Amino acid sequence: MTAYPHLLEPLDLGFTTLKNRVLMGSMHTGLEDNFWNFDRLAAYFAERAKGGVALMVTGGFAPNRAGELSPFGSRLSSKFQVNRHKKVTSAVHKEGGKICLQILHAGRYGYHPFVVSASAKKSPISLFKPRQLSSSGVERTIDDYSKSAKLAQAAGYDGVEVMGSEGYLISQMLNKRTNHRTDEWGGSYENRMRFPVEIVRRMRAAVGPKFIIIYRLSILDLVEQGSSEEEIIQLAQAIEAAGATMINSGIGWHEARVPTIVTSVPRAAFVWATQKVKEAISIPIIASNRINTPDVAEEILASDKADMISMARPLLADPDWVNKAQNGTPEEINICIACNQACLDHTFTYKRASCLVNPRACHELELLYLPTQSPKKVAVIGSGPAGLAAATVAGQRGHKVTLFEASDKIGGQFGLAAQIPGKEEFHESIRYYTNLIKKYDIELKLNHRATAQDIITRNFDEVIVATGVAPRLPSIPGINHEKVISYQGLLSAQKVLGKTVAVVGAGGIGYDVCEYLCVEGKSPTLDLDEWNKEWGIDTSGTLRGGLDLSGDGLLESPRKIYLLQRKTSTFGKSLNKTTGWVHRALLKKKQVEMIGGVNYNKIDDDGLHITINEQESRVLDVDHIVICAGQESQRSLYDDLKANAGDRFNIHLIGGADLAAELDAKRAIKQGSILAAGI
Ligand code: NAP
Ligand code: SF4
Repeated sequence: MTAYPHLLEPLDLGFTTLKNRVLMGSMHTGLEDNFWNFDRLAAYFAERAKGGVALMVTGGFAPNRAGELSPFGSRLSSKFQVNRHKKVTSAVHKEGGKICLQILHAGRYGYHPFVVSASAKKSPISLFKPRQLSSSGVERTIDDYSKSAKLAQAAGYDGVEVMGSEGYLISQMLNKRTNHRTDEWGGSYENRMRFPVEIVRRMRAAVGPKFIIIYRLSILDLVEQGSSEEEIIQLAQAIEAAGATMINSGIGWHEARVPTIVTSVPRAAFVWATQKVKEAISIPIIASNRINTPDVAEEILASDKADMISMARPLLADPDWVNKAQNGTPEEINICIACNQACLDHTFTYKRASCLVNPRACHELELLYLPTQSPKKVAVIGSGPAGLAAATVAGQRGHKVTLFEASDKIGGQFGLAAQIPGKEEFHESIRYYTNLIKKYDIELKLNHRATAQDIITRNFDEVIVATGVAPRLPSIPGINHEKVISYQGLLSAQKVLGKTVAVVGAGGIGYDVCEYLCVEGKSPTLDLDEWNKEWGIDTSGTLRGGLDLSGDGLLESPRKIYLLQRKTSTFGKSLNKTTGWVHRALLKKKQVEMIGGVNYNKIDDDGLHITINEQESRVLDVDHIVICAGQESQRSLYDDLKANAGDRFNIHLIGGADLAAELDAKRAIKQGSILAAGI
């Protein structure tokens, strides 16, 4: 008896049956943009089909040139492009999977000068002002969607998904925010919604009854002048009547200032909105966003809130997600921590997507963890992200691994990150590695600070030093004052500080520490009602766009916080592309006072003495000062081994111990994995 009966139950669509309720949602990987990457794209999807996913959706393909996301980006509009897609569809079908092509017209979100939209109004996140589509241009665009769907059918796809959410062209045509037209495509909601309804109606007529059409409906726009709940339901019913097979849930326009996918968004945060639409339609509806474990997915299906679950990033993180749920080993799932660091941050900077916790994602043909023909004795010293990745990949390949850890638990920087409210998912990565250590019979030596002598006297073939970093302590007079604490000391002991705190250093960790200090008690990420209030999400269905701009529900910070940096540049510039704005917005909401151009003069009983821009002197009368001034590599063991081990074994240095300046779990895990794949 499986623990996930609803998740694993087939879904009969009338003309075809999906083997379970897992859909791999659309995710642009960058591989779609160039024909020479289609072998890689095929391998990427084939691996996920093999992993048990019932149905997958490709990244977005534009139906015409104006609809491209970027110049010469992915597009399916000509029969000459069909053959390359056959590589993808045949590879997926060979593994027993099904796949739909997503048709996405970017509208004014396109990053090129030929962009078009409902009206000639630039989006706040775009570089290019769009040209307003003429009435006949609208007609031609609708036909281009159908043509693209016909080409997808010819390429062997099982269906298409019409991207009708996230603020792309269809959203732009639907909403008064962006549609100021006076022709038959503007004005009343009936007029505006004809665009998506006609797309689906003509597409169904073109492809016949036995082809999946998923319509990605914006169930919550999260922007001013977005759709009302009534309009969303009216559209869902019209889309069903026009011939869609299923409806997928899209949440938030890209220009929305409410987070929808980052790690601090509670799991399954928007399923309530999916459920409202489900109650008004009879075709299956798919729930999406921040669903990453089989337990959460099963609960949604069992309580009849949705008929299917969409996950994109979780299947980048673990292509075998479904098989592991099916085989009763969910604890072995490599959970997506919703960091965006290697997937969306790459996509939005035109780099090939991958995954922080799974560097093989989108590199299936290049990075292989093959069983070793000559098992070796491998020592890994340090169990942070780099050491864990190296140890477990080596163990998976059949090497005999011993993992040394000076503290009483594994995880390193991951363990610290997990203490930040909104970063609870990092516990999952530690859980995953804990299980792999058992699975691959890795000898784990906790509370064991390995010395060079220790290692030299054992007969290892390969020694991997991943001893990490130590927090940098700047040389400010009074740095040893009792008010001062390092971020490591603060987070590892989960200390509660006084009512006024200064944070020295405004990098990623300075921001994290401010978020830690802004919350006392339960993390809003673990309390959906609180989180909705904090970000102004209206679940009552009375406010347009689902947005409550009154600011009434905001939780005040329990303490006054100063965030300081020596630079005079904008705060938070080093934060990641797709998540940095969330951290900046949160600290602004919490009224954290940011002071740049700071010179730290001294610390004493009066507090932190600073000079700002070499002009203004201030004493910040604070109870505590948290130092987040970067890190320094801990590589003395490596140097000792290099000096004393001779040629007894190969010595490798990875992670923060190798490069503290770029302390970054993405680099650490990739470096550890590549090294272990090659020994
Ligand atoms: P960081 O980004 O390098 O920031 C260190 C901060 O300390 C800087 O703001 C720097 O600013 C200041 N600083 C450096 N030397 C100093 C000194 N001697 N005295 C006083 N201030 C000094 O390092 P981090 O915050 O430790 O983060 C490390 C890495 O972790 C990042 O690169 C990031 O990849 C990752 N991370 C990211 C996030 C996120 O994006 N949310 C969260 C956590 C960690 P000034 O020189 O201007 O004072
Ligand atoms: Fe998830 Fe981060 Fe991997 Fe993206 S990079 S799939 S968000 S774990």
